[in-house]
Formats: sequence, structure tokens, C-alpha cells
Amino acid sequence: MPFVVSARVMQTPAADRLQVIGDAVIAVDDGGLITAVEPSGTAAGRSLLDSGAAQLRTPPDTVLIPGLVDLHVHAPQWPQLGTGLDLPLERWLFEVTFPLEARYADLTFARPVWSDLVDGLLRHGTTTAAYFATVDVAATSALARAAVQAGQRAFVGRVAMDHPEGTPEWYRDASAPAGVDRSARSIAEILAIDAGRGLVQPIITPRFTPACTDDLLRGLGELAVSTGVRVQTHCSESDWAHVYALHRFGTTDTNALDGFGLLRPGTVLAHANHVTDDDADLIRERGAGIAHCPLSNAYFADAVLPVRRLRGRGVEMGLGTDVAGGASPSLLHQAHDAVTVSRLLDDGTDAHLPPEGRGVGGSAIDTTHAFWLATVGGGSVLRAPVGLLAPGYRFDAVLIDAASRRGSMRVFPGIDSPERTFEKIVRLAGPVDIVGVWVDGRRVVGGEPD
Ligand SMILES: [Zn+2]
Repeated sequence: MPFVVSARVMQTPAADRLQVIGDAVIAVDDGGLITAVEPSGTAAGRSLLDSGAAQLRTPPDTVLIPGLVDLHVHAPQWPQLGTGLDLPLERWLFEVTFPLEARYADLTFARPVWSDLVDGLLRHGTTTAAYFATVDVAATSALARAAVQAGQRAFVGRVAMDHPEGTPEWYRDASAPAGVDRSARSIAEILAIDAGRGLVQPIITPRFTPACTDDLLRGLGELAVSTGVRVQTHCSESDWAHVYALHRFGTTDTNALDGFGLLRPGTVLAHANHVTDDDADLIRERGAGIAHCPLSNAYFADAVLPVRRLRGRGVEMGLGTDVAGGASPSLLHQAHDAVTVSRLLDDGTDAHLPPEGRGVGGSAIDTTHAFWLATVGGGSVLRAPVGLLAPGYRFDAVLIDAASRRGSMRVFPGIDSPERTFEKIVRLAGPVDIVGVWVDGRRVVGGEPD
């Protein structure tokens, strides 16, 4: 049924522009598409209110923001969130992560974790998530089902990995053709689960080049062309990954992925901290984008992603939690972290160096820019009409109770302007302050407000 929402809206149509609509009227059609957004005091706003559509009036002191887009989640790592981050990446993968991921082949283990994860992320306001599932086809389909059931917009990828050195014998595809075949089957199963609706879609997911043979990468590139399904993978995450690609392929990770046909419109490259300027230009030309994972990068990347420099070259970019390489499921937390690490890059970190040679000037971003990454930026990378409450976008939205006092956020009337309230939401709001979440026009968290 079509409906009309009255709300105070805060959002970022551009990376340098916070938009506050004090009393917005949002018209949503019965398919979950936003057809109009008007201030209530205008003739257009009044005619929406008088249209006869069902009305949803949000309570006073609440703020409606666009749903958050998490570009990088390792779903099976949900139980290990917050642990193991002091291990080097290879030990973390082989000793902690791969053994856990292998357990999901048992669906009685997988199903409750999947539902808990999807529900947990929705409660954090994540209305769209790009998931790495596991190697197992059935476990991957079970994750897609969990997202459909909970009503989360999701891109769900069976993880393809077959390299005899980069993966353990007990957790990999048996061969490159077997890996391509299982990915093709996974795509077919996921398309059948959400037939016609498109809320949950498959995504082709080579884990990262060290875990995949050339034949598997090439086969998945061909699969992407033949099916038109999006691609996600890791790219140049760390010094090690960057140098690994140079040694194995004689070129950068980005170039190698492109050579295998994997750099395509909508391809999500996680991390990409060590991409060169030429890589960045290629990413832009191919229509791919970057999932910036600032917290995970602090542990595993050896560097801070130069957001401004890459965006200045026209590269699409959004944010990812990288559960569980990043120890928070909250995309607002990531937005806060994106600001923090950009400041560290800008100022530098070694006090023994003179201030003028300590950092990379011009690197800092603010909360408006970071929130844009978490919403519009993520939607642009995925080429999905989400991240903004505007006509032509899906109604994916999060309602924040700015007066809740249940968490750390305190808004003081008479002191806090709308701009300051927005900053507080980005830096301090958490699930206890989130009183409603909608995906595709359907309420998935919280009861009806009175
Ligand atoms: Zn990752």
C-alpha cells in the first residue's frame, strides 16, 4: 500500500553538503519506491498529505536518515567479531577464520548465526549489505534466505577459492572448474530464492587473488560477463597483498583482476589501500568502486586509504565494516573511524618528525563526507538506488530517537543546531537510539510509532 511519511530528515546529497528538511513529507508507492519528497508547508507537501494515502508520522525529537550501506561483510566471521586481531593475517585466516567458516556446511550451525547476523546489522541501521558467505553453496543460499526473511537488501556471494598454497586443503574448491560451477549454481539458487523481487541478489566472490588460481579467476570473470552478476573481492589490502600480486602477476592486483575480466561496473574492491594512481584511473574507467574499511585497515592494511585523493580521481567509494577484520558491526562507527583515520593521515603520526613533513595534507574528511560514503557513496558503488531519501530511490531509512538518552548521544535543545545534532548522530548513535528501520518501504525494525 502506498504511504506518506512525515519526518525530520537529515542526509547528504553530496559529500560536502548536509541537507536538513525540518518537516519533510515523503511519498512511497506500494513497491517501496520514493515518488516525492516535499516540505510539509508547501502546496506540494500539503497535497501529498491530503492524497488519502496511509500516513506515518514520526515522533517529535526523531530524525530520519537514509539506510546505511555496508559494502564489505564476512558473514561467517560474525561469531569471532572483536577477537583475534593481534594475529598476523595469515595466522588469523588459517587458525581462526577458515576453521570457523568451514563449520557452516552444517546448516544447523549456519542458520541461527545467519539470522542473528542479519537481525544485528538491521538493528545497527544497515539496510544494504554486501556479504561474503562461505565456500559452501547450501550455506550461502541459507544466508540469502535469512536476508529475504528479515527483509534486508543484500548481495550474497559464495566465496570462491581454490589455490593450493593460499587455502587449506579442507576448505577450498576442488578445482577451478568446480569452483566456477559452484558459483554458477549459487547464483541460480539465490535468484530462485528471491524470484522477481530483487531485494537479495547474488554476487560473484573470488576471495582474493592469493586464494585463487588464474583459471578460477578467469572462469569467474567469464561467469560475470555471461550472467551480468556483480563481483566483489579484496584488492591491494596490505603491503603483503600488494607485493604478492607484483611477484605473481608481474603487475598490480587491480591490473590482474582487470585482466581476468573481474573489474566491471558495480565491482566492489575491498580495502584497495595500496592502489596506484594508474590503478585508480582503471577502477574509475571500469565503473568499479572501493569499499573503505577504516577500522579493519588499522589492523591489517599497513596504511590509511587516501579517500580524498582517490575520490579526486573520480573513484566511486563507500564504507565497509569488514566484519570481523573490523571489530564493530556499525556503519556509523565506521563513518566515525573514517573521519579519525583521515585526520591521522592528514596530520601524520610520528611526533619526532617536523609537523610540515609528518602527514599528507589535504587528506582530512568530516562527518558529512563520511556519512555520504556510508549512504550515497555505497549505493553508487553498487549501482543501486539507495542512500538518499529522494524521488527515484528506494525507501530504505533509519529513524533515530535523538532524545532517547539510552546510549551516549545527548542532544541539548537551545545548544545543538541541526548540524551539531547530525554530527552527534554520526559519532554517537547506536542501536539503542534506532527506533525504526525500513527497507524497500517495509518496516523491519521497531513497531509503528504513534
Ligand atoms: Zn575482507
